[in-house]
Amino acid sequence: MARLKMTTVPEKILREVATPVTVFDDELVQFARDMIETMYAEKGIGLAANQVGDSRAVAVVDVSEERDNPLIFINPVIVEISEELEESDEGCLSLPTLFSGPVWRAKKVKVKAQNLQGEFFEVEAEELYARCLQHEVDHLNGKLYIDHLSRLKQERILKKWERILRERKREIEAEK
Ligand code: ZN
Repeated sequence: MARLKMTTVPEKILREVATPVTVFDDELVQFARDMIETMYAEKGIGLAANQVGDSRAVAVVDVSEERDNPLIFINPVIVEISEELEESDEGCLSLPTLFSGPVWRAKKVKVKAQNLQGEFFEVEAEELYARCLQHEVDHLNGKLYIDHLSRLKQERILKKWERILRERKREIEAEK
């Protein structure tokens, strides 16, 4: 297994709609394993393929407390969404170290996806699990959680992130 390199804002791939997976082979199995390893290493509860620079519609999720229940979603689509909403703080590995204000999400969703063999399955999720699935499906549609925030909050987060990037660049240059 290998840990994959994360992409971060403003890399273009994070704004691109993922390509549906049509080839279900050993390479896909290996890629999903690497994504799971990367998700755990980054201490995330979910990861979409474009966050590791791959344009395929693949997401991995683990919302268990023990961090021992990794789930793989190939070509996931939300097929049912509850009218009831819930507000909670959300973060993203593509905008690391920054936690936004609360994001409204549907409390329950039903997601249809394929497994590594290409077989279709459905899951019903609620609360954190539902939030995480909505966040990852958003990624695969080129959306970020900040898109759900007010423009003012978005700008505040992006400015903070730009500052962090500039500082990192300076540190790297100072080491040379
Ligand atoms: Zn994210």
